[in-house]
Amino acid sequence: MHHFDPSIEIQDYLVFGEYGDVNPSITDSSTYTFLNPKTMKELFEHEIEGCFLYSRHWNPTNKYLAEALAKLEDTEAAIVTSSGMGAISCTMLQLCNAGDEIVSSRTIYGGTYALFKNFLPRFEIKTKFVNIQDLNAVENAITEKTRVIYCEAISNPLLEVANIPMLAEIANKHNIKLVVDNTFSPIFITPSHLGAHIIIHSLTKFVNGTSDCVAGCVCSSKEFISQLTDINSGASMLLGPVLDSFRAASIMKNLHSLHIRMKKHSENALYLAENLEKLGCKVFYPGLKSHNGHNLLNEIMNEGFGYGGMLAIDAGTADKADELMAMMQQEKVGYLAVSLGYFKTLFSSPGHSTSSEIPEEERKAMGLSDGLVRISIGLDNNIENTFQRVKKCLQAVGLCN
Ligand SMILES: *Cc1c(COP(=O)(O)O)cnc(C)c1O
Repeated sequence: MHHFDPSIEIQDYLVFGEYGDVNPSITDSSTYTFLNPKTMKELFEHEIEGCFLYSRHWNPTNKYLAEALAKLEDTEAAIVTSSGMGAISCTMLQLCNAGDEIVSSRTIYGGTYALFKNFLPRFEIKTKFVNIQDLNAVENAITEKTRVIYCEAISNPLLEVANIPMLAEIANKHNIKLVVDNTFSPIFITPSHLGAHIIIHSLTKFVNGTSDCVAGCVCSSKEFISQLTDINSGASMLLGPVLDSFRAASIMKNLHSLHIRMKKHSENALYLAENLEKLGCKVFYPGLKSHNGHNLLNEIMNEGFGYGGMLAIDAGTADKADELMAMMQQEKVGYLAVSLGYFKTLFSSPGHSTSSEIPEEERKAMGLSDGLVRISIGLDNNIENTFQRVKKCLQAVGLCN
């Protein structure tokens, strides 16, 4: 257990507006005036503190949000992007040239999986998918062409916990980067403290928490963030996934309640997981002793925010999962919808997506069933009431007594 508290870092990050506004003024400009033409020329050559050129490069509102996210992840710097996928694709295209390879966890977000498997090969960037729990497999997949090890701190859909310290050791040994998607575990895992070099979030999920926009970020060293934003060669500058400054301002306000929300998501998820397990359901939640990542997570997590808001239950078959989800929506447990980190509970069935690539036998061994229902637990005030509703649904579809 680590004692780092990112909420203090974020709390201490104060930015005033023009007139002392407690919320900084929102930039309403795509371009910026220069009083001296020489300064403009200089800015093309290197970054100048507090000086802006064009909003695709940087704008003040995005800078505030990026700085706050660097505090969250305790990295030197960060950039914000218009989506989590924008953050991931820019990062990988910045790190990899034609002919290079990625070693990636096979259980990653569906969009990331499709990017690596179907899209990056167009640029001769090849990905080897491995079981990230198997450190020998990771090491064996690395060749002299490998540039990156890629994983999610807590993976989709079984919520497996990546051994970030060991993966970082392997990456350092081979002089390559460890990129960690921390979308499922904001504030309670700090990958930079465990050796990760680059940390990515889909801000769309827990960090924003209101399911009203799509956004992303990359947190890393000053050196890497400068590479991404380089006017002549940076992936974020040239591919252009710029976040709108009004959205950046609204995400920034939501970021300040992330610690309270994560505590509540975690508290509710643990309550449901424990009680569903008692009912005899097959539950995957890293806060449960029965989960294979429980001990590791206890070692690497920050104290005080719980084990996160995501859990999965196995309904056995895809049909049962569908029945259960329809019923849960009817009983107002939450919405049958993809995505996560919302104040209401969201559930969907991941069984047919990325996981289909994993051989049948291994899927069985992993506990990856077609009947898996992934649940993002909401901020329900009365979680016992929610549990009773879920129980009623489970009984109705014959999954418990
Ligand atoms: C949603 C998600 C993404 C993609 O983010 P977008 O904001 O939808 O582009 C990446 N990784 C994980 C783990 C996600 O859940």
